[in-house]
Amino acid sequence: MRQESGEKDFRRCGEKLIQRQHLNREEWRVLLQGQTQERQEWLAAQASKLRDQIYGKRIFIRGLIEFTNYCKNDCFYCGIRRSNSRARRYRLSQEEILSCCRTGYGLGFRTFVLQGGEDSYYTDERLTEMIRKIRQEFQDCAITLSVGEKSRESYEAYRKAGADRYLLRHETANEEHYRLLHPENQRLGDRIQCLKTLKSLGYQTGAGFMTGSPGQTIEAIIDDMMFLEELQPEMVGIGPFIPHHQTPFRGEKQGSLELTLYLLSLVRLLLPRVLLPATTALGTIDEKGREKGILAGANVVMPNLSPADVRGKYLLYDNKICTGKEAAEGLEALRASVNALGYELAVDRGDIAPETVLA
Ligand code: SAH
Repeated sequence: MRQESGEKDFRRCGEKLIQRQHLNREEWRVLLQGQTQERQEWLAAQASKLRDQIYGKRIFIRGLIEFTNYCKNDCFYCGIRRSNSRARRYRLSQEEILSCCRTGYGLGFRTFVLQGGEDSYYTDERLTEMIRKIRQEFQDCAITLSVGEKSRESYEAYRKAGADRYLLRHETANEEHYRLLHPENQRLGDRIQCLKTLKSLGYQTGAGFMTGSPGQTIEAIIDDMMFLEELQPEMVGIGPFIPHHQTPFRGEKQGSLELTLYLLSLVRLLLPRVLLPATTALGTIDEKGREKGILAGANVVMPNLSPADVRGKYLLYDNKICTGKEAAEGLEALRASVNALGYELAVDRGDIAPETVLA
């Protein structure tokens, strides 16, 4: 009996999310507690259907260029944190980055994502010059940055130089949880302010978080969902936490496939038009992780365009994959596996769908 009324409650909240793209705390709790395979499948089917209505059978690709692993921050979960003295550090030159873009363009990429640690070598001057060069040479491409927390002036300068999008995961919207993941000098409030600034400057903005990071509770995930509803980001990056052996979290448990898929589906239902990657971390914990992510509602994949000799150094977590379908050279294999699911890789920039598609 209890189980049945639980099922009814679950459906009621799921339907409400689909109709209203809004839930209160208690309703989120109903969806997030007691996850079962059956519920996951139902959410995934709803999320997939909605994504298809908006984007059709198209999956977007982004070429990821990990251009520096120097970082001034010390996030407890991250393998390229400042205190990891054993990380082999590297940074790509402007010419190397441009060369990655050229390779990527030839392969069919029309979005380049420049991601890195917070590296003071890359001053605003160097970064804006870089962006201008890419903008000049690849006029039909989107430029996405993911270089952490900067001042409004910096974000403005990058935008003027030609950057279109910015990825800055909020990591967790729960204060207490944020403090468990970061040293004192890193503040959730600063991160959120950055996200708001990015939106106000007209960036297509990406927030997001890891699933199963140490200390993550259902209540913290509810905070994440409510924060995403408020922020209305154009992109949301969600992937499992994976421990790195040279961080304080070396002995912690990895985030699960199931929870990641579950949350991907919920985020699709909360933000129907969102650009939602099936992340490298998801592909790392499960051989079919990316495909499962797509079936749960994701519509973006981000193959690695970094030069092969530095890929093994951008190690945010242990065993990070970088040579198979997640590598740009593996694009044909990726295409085949996406086609096998009944989808195609899109060859345009893949901007967020206009609001009218749902009207
Ligand atoms: N310096 C940039 C880019 C960070 S790396 C920034 O601050 O935004 C991109 C993302 O990788 C991070 O936002 C984090 O969510 C994720 N990440 C870092 N360490 C990880 C780990 N151990 N397991 C899974 N994901 C991790």
